[in-house]
Amino acid sequence: MELAGLIRSIPDFPKPGIVFKDITTLLGDAEAFSGVIEAWAERLRSRGVTRILAIEARGFIFGGALAHHLRVPLALARKPGKLPWLTIRESYSLEYGTDSLEIHRDAIVEGDRVAVVDDLLATGGTALAAIRLAEQLGGEVVDVGFLIELAFLSGRRKLERYPVESYIAYASEA
Ligand code: AMP
Repeated sequence: MELAGLIRSIPDFPKPGIVFKDITTLLGDAEAFSGVIEAWAERLRSRGVTRILAIEARGFIFGGALAHHLRVPLALARKPGKLPWLTIRESYSLEYGTDSLEIHRDAIVEGDRVAVVDDLLATGGTALAAIRLAEQLGGEVVDVGFLIELAFLSGRRKLERYPVESYIAYASEA
């Protein structure tokens, strides 16, 4: 499947210098989206994943589909102030700005084999924050998966202790 051709690159969004990877074009192709979810789910099954941890917001699209496919529970890592119950928080720096992620204290239980899910790996700060949240709650992170990887930003280096997977990798910004 030619997945890279289904991603739209938008220069200077949301600010000058960023080339935004728009996944809505891939989501709009039912065969491509289903194919990605099936392949991703197969990998998570082979790694014995017992819980999905999806990162707000576009990670929810993939995380929800994977949790449904695998019939495993879904945990949400959300931007600050969105979760209504008791939370823990991790801060991180983004390709454009800084932010934090929060998770409910009961979203992951001791011994869970956790798959972290997001749409895109850039510098790796967001995913590392989600990993730390999972680990603080006693989870073991056995897969860190993305649809897209901006390989030229070397996010993998920040995540080198973990198995990182992606389906579309960009070697350069263009
Ligand atoms: P990072 O923490 O640097 O790995 O940034 C990853 C997060 O920022 C993901 O949740 C992405 O959705 C978002 N992101 C960063 N850079 C881009 C980009 N060029 N296009 C689309 N989303 C991006």
